[in-house]
Amino acid sequence: MSEPTLPVGGGFLWEPAGSREQMAPEHFSDEQRQMASAGRDFSEQEIRPRIREIETKKAGLIPELLRKAGELGLLMVDIPTEYEGLGLGQTTSMLLAEQFSSIGSFSVSLGAHTGIGTMPLVYFGSDAQKRAYLPDLGTGRKLAAYALTEASSGSDALAAKTRAERTPDGKRWILNGTKQFITNAGFADLFTVFAKVNGDQFTAFLVDRTAPGLTIGPEEHKMGIRGSSTCALTFENTPVPVENMLGEIGRGHKIAFNTLNIGRIKLGIGTIGACKAALEISARYAKERAQFGKPIGSFGLVGSKLAEMALTTFVGETIGYRTTGLVDGRLERARTDGERVDAIEEFSIEASLIKVYGSEAFNYCADEAVQVHGGYGFIEEFQPERLLRDSRINRIFEGTNEINRLIVPATILKRALKGQNPLLPHSMMLRQQLGKGMVPPRPEGDLGVERQVAEFCKWIALYVLSVVAETYQAKIADEQEVLGDVADMILRVYALDSVVQRVRQIETGANTARKAVARDMLTAFAPRAYGQVLHTGRHVLMDICDEPTLGGHLSALSSLRMDWPSKVIAAKRRLASAVLAADGYPLA
Ligand SMILES: Cc1cc2nc3c(=O)[nH]c(=O)nc-3n(C[C@H](O)[C@H](O)[C@H](O)COP(=O)(O)OP(=O)(O)OC[C@H]3O[C@@H](n4cnc5c(N)ncnc54)[C@H](O)[C@@H]3O)c2cc1C
Repeated sequence: MSEPTLPVGGGFLWEPAGSREQMAPEHFSDEQRQMASAGRDFSEQEIRPRIREIETKKAGLIPELLRKAGELGLLMVDIPTEYEGLGLGQTTSMLLAEQFSSIGSFSVSLGAHTGIGTMPLVYFGSDAQKRAYLPDLGTGRKLAAYALTEASSGSDALAAKTRAERTPDGKRWILNGTKQFITNAGFADLFTVFAKVNGDQFTAFLVDRTAPGLTIGPEEHKMGIRGSSTCALTFENTPVPVENMLGEIGRGHKIAFNTLNIGRIKLGIGTIGACKAALEISARYAKERAQFGKPIGSFGLVGSKLAEMALTTFVGETIGYRTTGLVDGRLERARTDGERVDAIEEFSIEASLIKVYGSEAFNYCADEAVQVHGGYGFIEEFQPERLLRDSRINRIFEGTNEINRLIVPATILKRALKGQNPLLPHSMMLRQQLGKGMVPPRPEGDLGVERQVAEFCKWIALYVLSVVAETYQAKIADEQEVLGDVADMILRVYALDSVVQRVRQIETGANTARKAVARDMLTAFAPRAYGQVLHTGRHVLMDICDEPTLGGHLSALSSLRMDWPSKVIAAKRRLASAVLAADGYPLA
């Protein structure tokens, strides 16, 4: 397939469906599979047998397990080889993260160390800083944490009050302030701390646990991920050597937000690993548990839950690895740390989308796992109870889902206004075409209907986004309810576009069972995604437009109406059978 230009963030909105190959689990290399299998073995042999001890916060256990993971090379995947890491890229890193995700307390601790704890150094550290810390972080000899949030500044992270003042001799920074809810704080050796130089220039610092004046607060008692460490940090005249400032004065926001972009990708894929676990235990239970003389998995409404969980997982996996592939594609070309940061930033839209999707998917699958288990699902001894509690935090940290939803249209429009993407001319062009009754044609060949539907979804989303932008112009940020709806439309577009392309790619392979399952996934997903995009688009227009413009807009959208015999129930029944036969996710 020809690939004339590099993919850009948000490009799925205006590029024709299926115009590029995308990363997917079918493309994993042997090396990536080996890494996943090492992670899975570690998870099964070292972590799972100790869940109870982990959940009761046995002193020293999580750091001990993290160090063991470090000895096996499981903490150094994203650390460059020059600093004694493996330098294997985002796809491998996320595939590994997936393997731990069903045990939330451990997986959050590991993610905080390898992701938000270590990444600020990898992307923004000087050579000396990297040499000083990365080899130890890669082996687990040192463990890391990331301290951004404060009691009065969570989502509004740049409103932090922690201050940094330089000593008159210029040799140190003095930090004062308090950070809230810091994962791994109970044992981390190194903290990336954000503070304002002279109270206004947001800047990052590397602070050792042993720094004088640093006090770690007591452990929080949490709804879920109970075994993970979450504490406050207080800095009272804490001296930090000048060489431990990370990046430049006043540029801390770039470090904070790009670190979160990586964290969002990790979370977006990690949660999909947890969906697979929820599906697996539900499938096994649905086969074993009998009521009315039959296994409950044979009932249509239970089978439908298994099929929905599998579909939810498939969609998340598809957009997750497409995103890591996009980032890796840029990272491979990057020559400098600056270009590596640009690679992450370029796909911040996709990072937010997969964070929102994955966190909600896991919450949904964990909730359905409880339901499939009936009363037993509500009992602590059974896994779904913990999964559901553990799932909840994912919608809150790494930027709440509200904040991530707002980031999506805001970033697309900001880049459009700067001429960094073709959104505005492209949406004008399609509005003119719709005005003349022209719609995207049905592509020849296989999956013609689904590819056309994916194209219709893009047109609907772009049409509505352009009307929203035109209506509110500079005041658009005040219209959060509308922006939230637009973000949901864009998420469905990304999901359907990605699923169509992945299924096309699977269809070129030799595995007929995989092809059949993949096709059923698309059959079940396409009408749903299309229905949601069309419904939301119409609802947004009805909300924001007055007569007489409303009629014209709705009539333009009505030319993108499409009905086809979708046969979703039959596809879902086949998916349920595939889940039961595989004892879980049928495309593992
Ligand atoms: C277990 C746990 C672990 C954590 N780990 C870390 C960590 O390692 N490091 C770290 O720095 N932080 C960490 N956090 C903090 C976490 O990132 C924040 O809790 C999160 O960013 C939300 O901030 P907040 O709690 O202050 O909520 P707020 O920002 O007060 O938000 C409250 C509600 O208001 C909504 N809201 C806020 N602003 C807006 C807006 N502009 N528009 C629309 N809605 C809005 C939010 O979406 C949310 O629903 C952790 C938190 C927990 C609970």
